[in-house]
Amino acid sequence: TPPERIRNFCIIAHIDHGKSTLADRMLQITGVVEERAMRAQYLDRMDIERERGITIKAQNVRLPWKVGDEEYVLHLIDTPGHVDFTYEVSRALEACEGAILLVDAAQGIEAQTLANLYLALEKDLTIIPVLNKIDLPAADPDRYAAEIAHIVGCEPEDVLRVSAKTGMGVEALLDEAVKQIPAPQGDADAPARAMIFDSVYDTYRGVVTYIRVVDGRIVPRERIKMMSTGATHELLEVGIVSPEPKPTEGLGVGEVGYLITGVKDVRQSKVGDTVTSQRRGATEPLTGYREPRPMVYSGLYPVDGSQYPDLREALDKLQLNDAALTYEPETSAALGFGFRCGFLGLLHLEITRERLEREFDLDLISTAPNVVYQVTTDDGTEITVTNPSDWPEGKVSEIREPIVKVTILAPSEFVGTIMELCQARRGQLGGMDYLSESRVELRYTMPLAEIIFDFFDALKSRTRGYASLDYEEAGEQVSDLVKVDILLQGEPVDAFSAIVHKDSAYGYGTSMASKLRELIPRQQFEVPIQAAVGSRIIARETIRAIRKDVLAKCYGGDISRKRKLLEKQKEGKKRMKTIGRVDVPQEAFVAALSTE
Ligand code: GDP
Ligand code: MG
Repeated sequence: TPPERIRNFCIIAHIDHGKSTLADRMLQITGVVEERAMRAQYLDRMDIERERGITIKAQNVRLPWKVGDEEYVLHLIDTPGHVDFTYEVSRALEACEGAILLVDAAQGIEAQTLANLYLALEKDLTIIPVLNKIDLPAADPDRYAAEIAHIVGCEPEDVLRVSAKTGMGVEALLDEAVKQIPAPQGDADAPARAMIFDSVYDTYRGVVTYIRVVDGRIVPRERIKMMSTGATHELLEVGIVSPEPKPTEGLGVGEVGYLITGVKDVRQSKVGDTVTSQRRGATEPLTGYREPRPMVYSGLYPVDGSQYPDLREALDKLQLNDAALTYEPETSAALGFGFRCGFLGLLHLEITRERLEREFDLDLISTAPNVVYQVTTDDGTEITVTNPSDWPEGKVSEIREPIVKVTILAPSEFVGTIMELCQARRGQLGGMDYLSESRVELRYTMPLAEIIFDFFDALKSRTRGYASLDYEEAGEQVSDLVKVDILLQGEPVDAFSAIVHKDSAYGYGTSMASKLRELIPRQQFEVPIQAAVGSRIIARETIRAIRKDVLAKCYGGDISRKRKLLEKQKEGKKRMKTIGRVDVPQEAFVAALSTE
């Protein structure tokens, strides 16, 4: 297809605003999916995406569309909607000339959408603003059209109105996409350059790499080169997706499709990298490639220690499809053998854990997440701390923690309560804007650590669910942080150590100590639970002693009942972890780590 007949676009939308439904309608209206083969959310291929209703991995599809007598090819590039995947979003935007800004006509724009819209504007994409769900009785398109017009800088009449559910307005939207979005530009005679905007592991075909060709032509059976590493691969297949993969004779300027090289690991075919030919290759990559960098770490342990090898195998498999996931073995006195895992953010952590449990049938405990700290010790050594157990013993001269720029959108009546919350989380107000009379945008700079705990939940509950949140990396700052240890009978319980701000140390210590007092059964001796910063005890609770004799309950008599009880006790013992002399049932750790 000649570039002037190609239009590449993505849909920017908040979760639930109808992106998948709109994509479904486009597949149907363009005739790409037959009526009877249609199923809801056709492009959300992972089970977990369907259930959570979110898009994790970008998917793309080629749609034929006629305007008058002219035939066009539209490439819809689906972007992940969540903040953890900003880098993937930005790569997907890079593959487009236009973006449909899709906003629920009963909700208005949300913070993540706004953040992605700013990304799209930075990349000079043509924005087509669209209100969705106009069939809903609660829809207020006039109000939100005014809001969007204000943000995008267009007239309220320019905001299209559709119902992705009924299909109303979708044909007109496709026509507008052809009319407004510029055709791709590139040099057909130059050495091939294509950008990788997604890379997915497929059990049967190995890694499937989605690309957008910028210059030249990518043809099957030639050798290609990944520009970030110089690695070369033979190209086994080149194709398009419409809506299922179909091999083609090659992809030219502006075209979007996939490559298969026989590579088995997505880390060899990285999102953001530039693909060129080995022979007569390009010398300059398209854009700077960035290695995905974990921002949040947590320990993952099998509840049943015998599942450790299964967990390793599952992580190996998951990593084939997730270049951002990192892990290394770790042992914990409390939890046994497990892995220290690095994630892009909290959602990435949750999704990974859920996939491990569901797809690999594992039962897991995760330790409290932490961010990455840079510590300079008194003798000038620099330490990167991704785990509280790496915290240096001696004195430290400086500690730096990652900070983020936070954007919050909310109805203006909640400004006070949001400011209170952000201040309590060490936030610095950066600015505030009214998007309309009733909605406000607040910008804060805040430590990432304050967000990964329960900031989002706290924000939602204080605003009755109306606030939305987005954040992006903003470097690091020097902070007054300490490590709090939790001791059982003088022995530290590694899984509960945490790095917190000095002012929160006492709160963390007391709440953890009292939680454990509730959860740990009495022993035959008194057990002190202490919270300590270095050698200084900051909180203490005590579990009183008990003479624990299960047989005493039986009042003699029934022998088989006694035996049953003894067996039960033995079984219970197996799942006990011993910290010092204290027997702690595994469930106590699980419960202590899972609350909040
Ligand atoms: P996504 O998270 O942006 O992909 O949103 P979905 O496409 O999964 O839609 C979220 C919910 O909104 C689903 O329950 C859809 O059925 C519903 N929905 C999407 N578009 C419309 C619409 O135009 N009208 C109505 N009434 N509901 C819609
Ligand atoms: Mg979706």
